[in-house]
Amino acid sequence: MAAQVIDGKEFAAEVRGRVAEHVARLKDEHGITPGLAVVLVGEDPASQVYVRSKGKQTVEAGMESFEHKLDASVSQDELLAVVQQLNADPKVHGILVQLPLPAHMNEDLVINAIAPEKDVDGFHISNVGRLGTGQKSMVPCTPLGCLMLLRAQHGSLSGMNAVVLGRSNIVGKPMAQLLLGDSCTVTIAHSRTRDLPEVVRRADIVVAAVGRPEMVPGDWIKPGATVIDVGINRIDAPEKGEGKTRLVGDVDYASAAEVAGAITPVPGGVGPMTIACLLANTLTACCRARNLPEPEGLTA
Ligand code: NDP
Repeated sequence: MAAQVIDGKEFAAEVRGRVAEHVARLKDEHGITPGLAVVLVGEDPASQVYVRSKGKQTVEAGMESFEHKLDASVSQDELLAVVQQLNADPKVHGILVQLPLPAHMNEDLVINAIAPEKDVDGFHISNVGRLGTGQKSMVPCTPLGCLMLLRAQHGSLSGMNAVVLGRSNIVGKPMAQLLLGDSCTVTIAHSRTRDLPEVVRRADIVVAAVGRPEMVPGDWIKPGATVIDVGINRIDAPEKGEGKTRLVGDVDYASAAEVAGAITPVPGGVGPMTIACLLANTLTACCRARNLPEPEGLTA
């Protein structure tokens, strides 16, 4: 039986709608407008696209968007000065420094200079520690988006076997923490994992975040499992014409969809959830800063 397709695009639109409603209420009832500052260093084309898209969706949700574009040659101290200025700005509730930074910068140092309560990417060491110890934190956007999709699919995740493929700080590790927080039995697999197909076959939930095109075939998937494909890989697509490419996930969609109970497509699955969760995190940060109730269903 073909798997149910989890429509991340539609779900993300719903999340953005809920954020926008809450933002409108904050304005009406308290005269507050949440603000997100995005800092871009250099001219990386992919980063420029992300930043534009983030700014556009921030404004569409009724929030203020502040963009700081710095030259690739800016010194680390100058960047840190911008971060400090944003930390102190009461109109800014969320700060995101677009990664990767140029090679002469220490990314950890820059991220840890962001005020933790404004760290809407959830990468600050204090937020990482808080997530790991089950305390209220800012949660990284992509894993938060995956969690929302899984909760919408299953309600309670308690007791389910979850396998997270990948152990990056951005996706794999926080994803595993979130699933553990929802009482899954969690396995984190990586490039040294033995018998990976067998490990994946035990999973009721598979989250694939490895960055290897179509690495997970359908015969690794337990029948009926829910598959969340985080991977975004561009591959050649000669069938579309010379020099053309297309996006695929880390899961071989065609064969996995034959076996899984539900699956996210690429594109249109996890991808759109990431910016939606960035907006949700900015709203959450604003509510926390003003001691107002947090939006329901938009945090971990
Ligand atoms: P990283 O490269 O940081 O991490 C990849 C992980 O996959 C590592 O832990 C690595 O293991 C593991 N891995 C690599 N090869 C294998 C293998 N053959 N078998 C098992 N494990 C393997 O990637 P990210 O976590 O940053 O991103 C993962 C994917 O998600 C990428 O395609 C990226 O584009 C996508 N992504 C999508 C986002 C979205 O918005 N949808 C956001 C962020 C990322 P080891 O640690 O042992 O090397």
